[in-house]
Amino acid sequence: MMVLTALLTDTAPVVANLALEMTEALLADGVLAVREMPVRLCARCGHMTGTVAEDCRACGHGVALGARRELLVFDRAAHGLVLERRDFHAAGARTPAHLLNIAHDVPRLLVLSRTRDHGVSLASLGLEGMVLDPRAGLHVAVLAAAAERGAVRPVMTVTENAAANVAAYGAPFRAWGGMRLRYALHGRIAYDAAAQDRLYEVHRAEAVRELLTGWYLPL
Ligand SMILES: [Zn+2]
Repeated sequence: MMVLTALLTDTAPVVANLALEMTEALLADGVLAVREMPVRLCARCGHMTGTVAEDCRACGHGVALGARRELLVFDRAAHGLVLERRDFHAAGARTPAHLLNIAHDVPRLLVLSRTRDHGVSLASLGLEGMVLDPRAGLHVAVLAAAAERGAVRPVMTVTENAAANVAAYGAPFRAWGGMRLRYALHGRIAYDAAAQDRLYEVHRAEAVRELLTGWYLPL
């Protein structure tokens, strides 16, 4: 087992650089596209809200204005299945069929650009003020970490719920060069159980305790 001793987020330069490199390649391949789409912008802060009427998630304001904006989109029809059995590590007989269904159930056109303070800026692609959706960026962070260690078969640990939420957004970002990312499913971890000293002694994993309890679990 390789013990993770570093922390990478989508704000790290190595992640942002890889994300832009991948996005540009996917745009060139036609898997991703920049398209003008109808959006709703918060009348107070300009945050892009969902397509249905709801309060602004950034500032809570209740009024949104209709507009058209260029967005980074992923057309699933141009890609094929967004989640397959081979995308899971050691799923075996417990292959989560319902996860495959959930992932295939997302809208055909997925918007991958968001208005947000943090994340991978898409300004260099002409999308001023927008960042890559963190559900996609998460996969790039795993690939960037794997590339730094020369690992070609990275495995990303997620709960079933999280996998259902991120899989479709990450579909174009799971393979790069010779690397192919897979998911390993785990159950929900109770924070108190994970914070016990004994656990880290038994597994000789004291080095990762702080990372797990301070970063990973809260996320
Ligand atoms: Zn707002």
